[in-house]
Amino acid sequence: MAKRRIGIWLIGARGGVATTAIVGLVALRNGQAGTTGLVSELPSFAGLDLPDWKDLVVGGHEIRSLSLLDTATRLAGEQAIDHRLLESCQDELAQIDARIRPGTLYRVGPTIAGLADLEIPRDETPREAVARLQADLEAFATSNHLEHVVVVNVASTEPPMDLSAVPSSWRQLEPLLDSPEQCPVPASSLYAIAAFESGCSYINFTPALGATPAALDELAQLRGSRHMGYDGKTGETLLKSTLAPMFARRNLQVLSWVGHNIFGNLDGRVLDNPVNKAAKVRSKDHLLSQILPQAPQTLVSIEYIESMGDWKTAWDHLHFAGFLGTRMTMQFTWQGCDSLLAAPLVLDLVRFTELARRRGETGTLKFLGSFFKSPLGVEEQSFERQFLVLEQWACQGHDQC
Ligand code: NAD
Repeated sequence: MAKRRIGIWLIGARGGVATTAIVGLVALRNGQAGTTGLVSELPSFAGLDLPDWKDLVVGGHEIRSLSLLDTATRLAGEQAIDHRLLESCQDELAQIDARIRPGTLYRVGPTIAGLADLEIPRDETPREAVARLQADLEAFATSNHLEHVVVVNVASTEPPMDLSAVPSSWRQLEPLLDSPEQCPVPASSLYAIAAFESGCSYINFTPALGATPAALDELAQLRGSRHMGYDGKTGETLLKSTLAPMFARRNLQVLSWVGHNIFGNLDGRVLDNPVNKAAKVRSKDHLLSQILPQAPQTLVSIEYIESMGDWKTAWDHLHFAGFLGTRMTMQFTWQGCDSLLAAPLVLDLVRFTELARRRGETGTLKFLGSFFKSPLGVEEQSFERQFLVLEQWACQGHDQC
């Protein structure tokens, strides 16, 4: 059977997460990296019809003109990736760089717009922007002989948008694309529309609006496409969704949960703007009240500390009550390399999404809930239970289960 070549189209292609995913993919392809950190390589998923590393082709949209090598060199300087690895994949990085196209800045807010130095049309209507992004996706698929493209949004965190301002049906939202003043969705949603209109799948790894509105879920279904989001669950929130069920199961009452996060990469710089930060804090904070029987007092802080680079420290303080009302404390410190935690999940999400397509699935891919802080259409917030759903999905129609 002819090889099925699959595209990965990264929105924010020269950012930390995207570049690490690209370096990782090249290293996996060349046999220079192991599979630690990759969920799709766990024994539960062995034997599935997942795309091989060699069959994945990368392109993307960006707003900054630096090269993939520039970002990778910065990450190597911060001890996030190995210098030797970088040297050996320079040619591949240059080839992928040549496939990166200017994105859109529609409703991204001043902090993100201020990062842009690529020539990006600023007076397009949303419809014109979608048409241009769609043309890029279609050219990528055609020139690389791709059977399918999975678009993954790993762009900077947009300011929160008012979901209630977005019409609930595609029929009502679609005409607004002609009006730059009235269209209520930001760049992340225009990328989703372009993806669905081109028959691509769309994964939102960020807390941006993306395909969250019901009108876009409807569009995905109308075009026989699929999507999932939002906001990758990689560090502190992963711990929250693992630890909180333990307190609930032992009938221990969590009174307060305080999480202080400090880091210094570009994502941190964007989140330093309180407006952009609001979307992230909301996404990190809501799950405790859904897992615990009584919502504790919570505080999430995110501070940009430049010297930390891509290394994030989360310090969490939990105050809880046990038998006879006695109060106790748990504290933990998580020191993770942000891009390294996120990048393998991007590759996993592409593989599982492509398998869902091969299985004929459309709409919201709820079985991917364990990958996200705010999984669309998923009430369950316990990591372990979400993961069981992924394993059960993998088993469907698979003889080895
Ligand atoms: P980053 O700032 O290094 O990269 C973001 C990239 O997106 C930049 O290169 C920027 O130029 C580009 N960009 C911004 N707006 C764009 C637009 N409209 N179109 C195209 N490109 C655009 O950030 P990162 O550390 O790579 O994180 C990427 C995203 O993933 C962020 O939103 C972050 O919150 C989210 N996320 C990251 C983690 C993690 O790193 N562990 C976890 C969950 C979510």
